[in-house]
Amino acid sequence: MTDDIWGVAQNRLKTQVGQNNYVTWIEPLRFRDLQDGILTFDVQSQFMGNWVERYFGDAILREVAAMGEAVDRLSFVVNRSPRPPKSAPATAQEPVPARPAARSRMGQENGLPLEPLYTFDTFVVGKSNELAHAAARRVADSDEVSFNPLFLYGGVGLGKTHLMHAIGWELRNRRPDAKIVYVSAEDFMYRFVRALREKDMMGFKEMFRSIDVLMVDDVKFIAGKDATQEEFFHTFNSLVEQKKQIILSSDAAPGEIDGLEKRIVSRLNSGLVIDIHPTSYELRLGILQRKVEVFGDRWPGARIGDGVLEFLAHKISSNVRELEGALTKLFAHSSFLDREVDLELAQECLRDMLKTVDRRTTIDEIQRKTADHYGIKLADLIGPRRNRVYARPRQVAMYLAKEMTDRSLPEIARKFGGRDHTTIMYGIRQIEKLSATDSALSEDLDLLRKALRWS
Ligand code: ADP
Ligand code: MG
Repeated sequence: MTDDIWGVAQNRLKTQVGQNNYVTWIEPLRFRDLQDGILTFDVQSQFMGNWVERYFGDAILREVAAMGEAVDRLSFVVNRSPRPPKSAPATAQEPVPARPAARSRMGQENGLPLEPLYTFDTFVVGKSNELAHAAARRVADSDEVSFNPLFLYGGVGLGKTHLMHAIGWELRNRRPDAKIVYVSAEDFMYRFVRALREKDMMGFKEMFRSIDVLMVDDVKFIAGKDATQEEFFHTFNSLVEQKKQIILSSDAAPGEIDGLEKRIVSRLNSGLVIDIHPTSYELRLGILQRKVEVFGDRWPGARIGDGVLEFLAHKISSNVRELEGALTKLFAHSSFLDREVDLELAQECLRDMLKTVDRRTTIDEIQRKTADHYGIKLADLIGPRRNRVYARPRQVAMYLAKEMTDRSLPEIARKFGGRDHTTIMYGIRQIEKLSATDSALSEDLDLLRKALRWS
């Protein structure tokens, strides 16, 4: 893709998001590149990138895809002195909840800013994240380094970044003189590349090696980039030797990150590695209730009716970020229309979002992809044939249907030709058992999970 194509897409976005949003959020995005389906922009702050991703991400992906580009996600590189925009937005506004200027003096001058709302206070603890939360608290509350690094991993939107920022805020309050730096791995890489280009490796090294606590978010971005990995490794070792705390996050366990060097993996594993599990319904509801308390007063007059939060917690189960996006949308609706959001209005407002959620989790799609994967006909996957060639893929599909959708066993059973739900249970158990020892099978499962998640 080129700058020009982005220019056209930008124009089309203007009509969708409205003039104000356009000037504030879309116009300042500087196209960097599109590679392997990842569309990257330069932005002035992490906050801006997050905001754009959250509220305009889908629209951007849709428009760029409509221009014939293969794109499946966005990424943002923070660059505080981006190239001048083609038509300088004279009215360029600070993002709405503006960051107080004082924050740039809070010892973060060399890292990325922390999001004010990502604190321990706003983090809701449940079974799925209690270990991660406890470890984060330990790091934030003690000056001794008892494990190094702390490595948090888990799926998208489960609170890794939130916890890291919470640690950052806490430490900055408790140890105002310490140099506490939070960066994304992308940002780390970007600085490294820039230092190389500007022949300022000394500055780069000094900056990173003089840190007291280093947090690097989404480390998988470093994987496969050899020179950056090398430098990361040195930085890492030098900080560990000086007994400085390091906290890292990723969407996968160290050993599961493709392209990450073995020695780095083993270094990472020598610390405390903790995963955050998918949320339960109760936790999602708890998070929503907390968000209403925290955000509610940003939306004058907004009223959310009975049962609406429960509805959201039930429907949007994959990712807390989406859950929040949905809540914000409802707040906005209610506030702008000065009308209470009841269940009906909620369904109406979120129709598009729920459609994609539903689509992502359909059993139909799981069945189709599984049949494809094993090279059998869909009818045979669902039908009665008992031959192992069909029965095993069928059980795989049952297993994935249980894992990846919120459907109950009877609902799944209905989708598999009206079998008894005990048959489904048996199938799921079978796969559970077999996949523990059969690596080809567990590889199949992984491939299918990936294929389904990205579709
Ligand atoms: P990740 O970095 O794991 O992809 P984030 O930390 O960015 O996820 O979380 C996504 C959104 O969900 C954030 O706005 C965050 O505040 C919210 N969130 C996730 N988990 C929790 C939680 N347990 N309590 C409160 N908010 C949460
Ligand atoms: Mg994150």
